[in-house]
Amino acid sequence: MTLADISRHCYELTQAYLGAQNASSIVQETQEAIRETRAIILTEVFSRWSPLNGEISFSYNGGKDCQVLLLLYLGCLWEFFALQVSRSQYAAAYQRFPLQNLFSVYIDLAETFPSLETFVDETAARYELSLYSSRREHGAQASDMAAAFSDFLERYPETQAILIGVRATDPFGETLKPVQKTDKGWPDFYRVQPLLHWRLAHVWSFLLYSGEPVCGLYEHGFTSIGSVDTTLPNPHLRGLGETAPQHKFQWEVEHSYGIAGSGINARPLDPSDVSWLAALGEDKYLPGWYLTDDSVERAGRIKRKK
Ligand code: ATP
Repeated sequence: MTLADISRHCYELTQAYLGAQNASSIVQETQEAIRETRAIILTEVFSRWSPLNGEISFSYNGGKDCQVLLLLYLGCLWEFFALQVSRSQYAAAYQRFPLQNLFSVYIDLAETFPSLETFVDETAARYELSLYSSRREHGAQASDMAAAFSDFLERYPETQAILIGVRATDPFGETLKPVQKTDKGWPDFYRVQPLLHWRLAHVWSFLLYSGEPVCGLYEHGFTSIGSVDTTLPNPHLRGLGETAPQHKFQWEVEHSYGIAGSGINARPLDPSDVSWLAALGEDKYLPGWYLTDDSVERAGRIKRKK
């Protein structure tokens, strides 16, 4: 698939979700959340920076929040192009999608789960990301996020704004704004944060409906993924076995776009992560989408061992 094809696909799946009627209250809330996010991208962001010349980059780490944002952003990109075509004096047949890759930045300083690494590579190929990886391109030199972003900006000085999939319920998220400059001590760019108003249930509703791939770790009890030494499956999903309640996204799975009724598109785990999970003990964990309480989303994120 080209970037044009996948952007069109994301546009169509977003429209299909927005068109759903008589679905659950979670779906209705998520539809509203999507409209708000799209309005930020299409009106606020695209009127300020061009999506076509490298001014806008995308921060991507394979997590569920940036996955949602990526699908919505690509859909907006398609809409932006379609609008240009409709306003042009030339026939649509003579107009080409003007981008081949989406500039993206992945800061992989800490040790990452192999399943997540593979997922990032797979999705970079699927969504035509031109992915800067701090480890690959900057070696071990960058000591923290800010230094890694500095290096990225030195290499891509045209960058003005970076999309970030942060939500208000994330640590330090409640005071953020959809578009804001970086803090003092950080390299200079605008943070674009169009998912602040999203809740955990909205993320799962849209992702499970989309039929697009999600990192396999989420199927094994992870609800938020940090580095290997700071992340465990969420204890709130442990050992519920057969007494487990149903999850809240049956409609989404049954009507899943493109793969209706065929289940959830969680990628298989890397064998080393299977062994790592087995070494944690016998306990089984429910998939991450069984948890919709934002307040315990990061209960599996632990302090780094000294
Ligand atoms: P999850 O919480 O399930 O891991 P996530 O990684 O998408 O999902 P956060 O960890 O809350 O969400 O991070 C918020 C956003 O910050 C991400 O969506 C992504 O845009 C950006 N981000 C976080 N860590 C990185 C990283 N290492 N490299 C690039 N972008 C990142």
